[in-house]
Amino acid sequence: MSTARARRRGGPTLIGSANALRGMERFYGDLSEGAEPLDVALEVVKIVEADPRDHSVGLGGLPDERGHVTLDAAVMHGPTHNSGAVGCIENILHPSEVARLVMERTDHCLIVGPGAYRFARDHGHPHAELLTDEAREIWLRWRESMSERDDRLPPRAKEGEKSGKVIRGHSGDEVAVEDLLWDERITGTIHCSALGKTGDVACTTTTSGLAWKIPGRVGDSPIVGAGLYCDQEVGSAGGTGRGESAILANASFAAVELMRHGRAPADALREVLERVKRQAKRASAWQPELIREDGQPSFDLQLYAVDLGGRTAGMSLRGRGNYAVADPENGPRHEPLVGV
Ligand code: ASP
Repeated sequence: MSTARARRRGGPTLIGSANALRGMERFYGDLSEGAEPLDVALEVVKIVEADPRDHSVGLGGLPDERGHVTLDAAVMHGPTHNSGAVGCIENILHPSEVARLVMERTDHCLIVGPGAYRFARDHGHPHAELLTDEAREIWLRWRESMSERDDRLPPRAKEGEKSGKVIRGHSGDEVAVEDLLWDERITGTIHCSALGKTGDVACTTTTSGLAWKIPGRVGDSPIVGAGLYCDQEVGSAGGTGRGESAILANASFAAVELMRHGRAPADALREVLERVKRQAKRASAWQPELIREDGQPSFDLQLYAVDLGGRTAGMSLRGRGNYAVADPENGPRHEPLVGV
């Protein structure tokens, strides 16, 4: 028996991005009664995949630079140490379910693009239009404000006036659309890690990815080790935020490995995020925009982890917003992300 297994076993626990709270409130009871962690994690994220008001995932997700909504999703299952994922899939409402099908019905780990769409359709997933009017309008505002040297004109507004439209990020913070268009790179995703009653672990991450991305770009969410990872002997971890930084640090795998070697979830996440900062500083030799004037990364990365003892942590580079967690002591709730 590994050292991690020999530690106290925790009760049923869920952890993930702030937008997972609604699903946790609805399905934590099932996990407590012994439901499969992967079933519960999927139910949690599917609520957000189908919610047109969440512009970071599934229906209503913000599109790529040409206006196409493309989705990435993955699942990982501790008991069988298996995973499945889809990348850059279009017109399918529940990519997380398709990721599960890839895991259970194929010998592959990742299927992308039109192949993923065909695979989903073959398994009975209906064709869905995912670009909502609201997401299209936000995309249009972005296009119109991209350059002062093209023929597109933003709608006339008095100087400094904002449209008043506010959207919610995955850490729960509300941001004015104008600030997203001009100051911040829009990211968004939902992650959920689950520890079941019998100690099984599972996780899933699903996203519409970085808004205005180059068509074909795939982020960390469907990459096992980057946007999610679990190991039945250790626990589970996942991330949201700038996918490229999670890929370059292999962030979720690194967090699980650190926990395997005895680190508590919070220590493991801190170490990974410190690493991400150092890596961003090195990368800024080529990409100066990665580091702000104060020496801090110009982007955010949020990480979530649970070990077999039911210990949890949610940390991020910026320490802004919340994460969602549900455990036997306090039930489902938001907790503030701890900054590193
Ligand atoms: N990690 C996602 C991606 O890079 C975006 C996000 O979580 O905000 O595609």
